[in-house]
Amino acid sequence: MSQRQSLVAANWKMNGSLESIRQLLAAIAQGVNKETQSEVLICPPYVYIPELAGLLDNTEIRLGAQNVSQHNSGAYTGEVAASMLKDFACDYVIVGHSERRTLYGEGDVRVAEKFVTVQAHGMTPILCIGELLEEREANNTEEVIARQLDAVIEMAGIKAFNNAVIAYEPVWAIGTGKTATPEQAQEVHEFIRLRLARHDHETAETVRILYGGSVKADNAKQLFELADIDGGLIGGASLVAEDFLTICHSVR
Ligand code: PEP
Repeated sequence: MSQRQSLVAANWKMNGSLESIRQLLAAIAQGVNKETQSEVLICPPYVYIPELAGLLDNTEIRLGAQNVSQHNSGAYTGEVAASMLKDFACDYVIVGHSERRTLYGEGDVRVAEKFVTVQAHGMTPILCIGELLEEREANNTEEVIARQLDAVIEMAGIKAFNNAVIAYEPVWAIGTGKTATPEQAQEVHEFIRLRLARHDHETAETVRILYGGSVKADNAKQLFELADIDGGLIGGASLVAEDFLTICHSVR
């Protein structure tokens, strides 16, 4: 079995102020050191990226963005290009978060375009996929996951997943306090790996697959212990330094 480096990623969403993110970052940075087994990543709101780029210098913590434009430059008011994120030392970019898909109408093709753009600029996309509650209740989870994955495989090619992270985030578990059971999560993570293995066995075995959806300090360990879960994408709990650090130190 391949050794996958675990990753715990904070998605701060549209929260915080300059003052509060400085305090939060200082508290997190204090608890992340060479002993921390997992890679740790923070994705702040765009405008705080330059500030964090400075604060994270000389730490083990990596910097990422929550979104990106699929375009390289031009008349796209309000958008941010991948090259701009690269300018501020971002290593990772989240694409296809369910809030982008549902609130901003980002479809599978747009998400795949963003995935390709991020890689073209030398950064690693974190591709979020996951089913809605009604899709799970209609037994369509695997169909939805397959569709979301296939759109990216089709556009980027399977080898692109050698430099990508996947985050399985059941939409019904995001920000709801309702976590998938370890069995539900493991089942979908295994399905994702099998889907990729249809194209390339090695890629399927080495790609990191995070779980996201109400991961908290008290449930992280049992999720991260599972065979196909390589860490987490953390929303609400990443805004509390102590909780986030407990999650970071819950990886196997
Ligand atoms: C997320 O937004 O990616 C997420 C998992 O949020 P939460 O942890 O708050 O459910």
